[in-house]
Amino acid sequence: MYLTRFEGCSLKVRSVCPLCSLCCGLWLTGEREIENLEYDVDHPVNGGALCDKGNLVHKLPYHEARLTTPLIREDDGYRQASWEEALNTAAEKLKESLERHGPASILFLSSGSCTNEENFLLYRLAEALGVKAAPSPLITTGLRRIFGLEASTGTLEGLAEADYVLIYGNPLEQCPVSARYILKAKFENAACLTVVDVRKSRTAWFSNVFLQPKPNTEMLLLAGMLKHLSEKELYDVEYVEKHVKGLKAFKEALAKLSMAKISEATGVPTSAIAGTAEGLARANKPYILYTASVLRHRGAEAVEALASLALLTCLPKEGGGLIALEGPPNAQGVKDLLAEEPKLQNVGFLLALGGLPPGLGKVGFTVSTQQFKPENPSEGVPDLVIPTACWAEKEGSLTNVDRLVQWLERAVKPPSNVKTDFEFLLELAERLGVSLPYKKPEDVWGDLSAMFPAYHNFSLELLKDRPERWGGSILFREKFATRDGFARLPRLSFKAEVLKPDRQYPLIAVTEPRLFSQACKVASSLVEEVLGKPYRYVEVNPADAGELGLEDGCLVKLVADSGESLPLKVLVSSGVPSGVVFAPDYEVCRVRIERLRGEEAG
Ligand code: SF4
Repeated sequence: MYLTRFEGCSLKVRSVCPLCSLCCGLWLTGEREIENLEYDVDHPVNGGALCDKGNLVHKLPYHEARLTTPLIREDDGYRQASWEEALNTAAEKLKESLERHGPASILFLSSGSCTNEENFLLYRLAEALGVKAAPSPLITTGLRRIFGLEASTGTLEGLAEADYVLIYGNPLEQCPVSARYILKAKFENAACLTVVDVRKSRTAWFSNVFLQPKPNTEMLLLAGMLKHLSEKELYDVEYVEKHVKGLKAFKEALAKLSMAKISEATGVPTSAIAGTAEGLARANKPYILYTASVLRHRGAEAVEALASLALLTCLPKEGGGLIALEGPPNAQGVKDLLAEEPKLQNVGFLLALGGLPPGLGKVGFTVSTQQFKPENPSEGVPDLVIPTACWAEKEGSLTNVDRLVQWLERAVKPPSNVKTDFEFLLELAERLGVSLPYKKPEDVWGDLSAMFPAYHNFSLELLKDRPERWGGSILFREKFATRDGFARLPRLSFKAEVLKPDRQYPLIAVTEPRLFSQACKVASSLVEEVLGKPYRYVEVNPADAGELGLEDGCLVKLVADSGESLPLKVLVSSGVPSGVVFAPDYEVCRVRIERLRGEEAG
């Protein structure tokens, strides 16, 4: 029996950490409100372990940046609004867009920070109105085009048993408890850990082999590995014939590439590229793991190339697999429910659960549900902000990175003027004249599991008792989820936009997303409190720092080649090579650094 509440405690509720796609288990405890957390040593994902950020989650519901009233944006900033006004405004603006520009002008975006039931309700509302619903662009995609389904093929437990692990990205900082599995593979199975990253990150510290390509050439490096596999036929020919289509065109595209040029462009020796491909091909239990930054900062094709590499090396083996680590906790649940990819052009009305995604073009009217207050009312912030309950204030299910579905029990009520997204959507539907046959999240389960049949294998009662994994420990053992059961090798361009510094912008900036990146104020205060380092910083190589007269902690302006500038603190680090700087939640581009002095630095 997987207990959810202890007798004799005012508040002791089994919950999860909502800060990344591992969804580590924990207990929320206290008297009337959440005061602390305890470690859930029986939890199948983390066995009690929590990272620095996970150890702070009990503070999130009471953070001073919590949004507790609807806000409407006006020329001079936000003003508070009643729920009546907020709901009427959302409904009127949506109807207006529908009448003037038709259903194609409306887009609903689901969120990885919402439960499956909330995202399902959004989908049902969109369906009833005849408008589009899609996953937030913050959620990486690309696997569906290869496998027919958007999911990790293996599990974290499988990863721990691997004898060769290729890592693209920095899971030990982005999803730190993944170390439990990665380091088990390394230290208990003597797995070879190969890490690919432009910056020598915390994950790279533990690598047996560290490949440090030049910025923006990670895709080319993958092309080199695939080319070596293809030319030496280092893949299971029988498996590929039985399960994979598109090999001929894929090989032809690779044959046109020159290994010497790949090596020159990436800065990685040919022998290291070939050695990595051979390591994967010859291992008995090879795993590939990548973090979401691969897609967001390194091009959509990278996910397809990684999936292709897994298809030729990991998936044919009994114990091999691919794991896609994401930021949002319920990213997998979003992928399970919604197939369509978002198109953010020509949108007249946008409803985004869990905050607006970055990089939005011009949108007629934007509504966003958020737990925290919006930043400055400049471009890119919602016209209408709906305060929403946090994970501890609602019930519903979440699906983590290795397809483990967990039921969240509500630990405390939301603040008095805050609703769950489920409640908000039901009230919005009513104003739009749509009748949805659900009153509470658990009413949805039957229809939700009919929509994604993998959830059909476990009942809600079972799920409330213990987490359940859909798809078993390995996906696609017999066939893929495409119509004909074959995986597809994609047509990839393997192009890299190699950035060339010049006199005006002599450095290349690289980046990766940080936790909490949708709630910067919360991020900065909590991360600074716990990690003792600034949330906003730029890592500079010691040689470059010396040349520019910079030292640890000094304030600089990072000026991008787009002209935009950002004040940041300097962290001198040999983790970045000379000529490259690293800034979290930034972009890959050419930059220069200007030291701020006197009043500017104040
Ligand atoms: S690894 Fe992720 S889910 Fe686990 S405690 Fe850390 S942030 Fe939370």
